[in-house]
Amino acid sequence: PLHRTPPARRTRLGIMGGTFDPIHHGHLVAASEVAAEFDLDEVVFVPTGRPWQKSGRDVSPQEHRYLMTVIATASNPRFSVSRVDIDRGGQTYTADTLDDIQTLRPDADLFFITGADAMEQIMTWKNVDQLWGKAHFVGVSRPGHELTDFGLSEEVSLMEIPAMAISSTDCRERVAEGKPVWYLVPDGVVQYIGKYGLYIDPNGRIARPN
Ligand code: ATP
Ligand code: MG
Repeated sequence: PLHRTPPARRTRLGIMGGTFDPIHHGHLVAASEVAAEFDLDEVVFVPTGRPWQKSGRDVSPQEHRYLMTVIATASNPRFSVSRVDIDRGGQTYTADTLDDIQTLRPDADLFFITGADAMEQIMTWKNVDQLWGKAHFVGVSRPGHELTDFGLSEEVSLMEIPAMAISSTDCRERVAEGKPVWYLVPDGVVQYIGKYGLYIDPNGRIARPN
């Protein structure tokens, strides 16, 4: 009988893109649930560059968003943070994110994780066809948004996760109104927001990290 070494299992790598202004427990639960369901080895969080979807308001400086994402994910050995979208600069397009991560990790099969609202945006893009083949897409439920895959591709899965009625918009408004965000965002992120006075200055002038 022949003894062959079994082929090495390819790494299963989740990608969680977002503005993360700030990162909250909805993001973290989504990543954790998809990692468990799809047997992912790791999840990389990718803070956006200057996001075109958020043209209605100023987004916090990217170094603040990056550092809050690092703080929130640091305790999980399977979570990490990538700077590819920040370092590329300009508006972030998911196809570029996937190409850059795949270049860095040629050994990995990619799983792009999105909430129901972002899923709808991606699936209704003009250039959605250019995404197929780059990753498997996993859409997760989010309170207030209907979860649908639009029947566009076999490469899309949908998944119910515990309902977390949390949004970054709500967290920012709560800070501005002097309300607590404890337990909506990780403790270290509460402290980071306080340290730099994020979301409280009505003129949007906020301190930058050194
Ligand atoms: P904002 O209110 O500023 O848009 P957000 O809470 O929607 O912030 P994003 O950074 O825009 O957070 O979202 C990044 C990704 O996380 C998106 O795919 C989004 O759908 C998903 N997501 C955000 N919050 C939740 C949640 N509570 N449950 C499930 N998915 C979520
Ligand atoms: Mg959003």
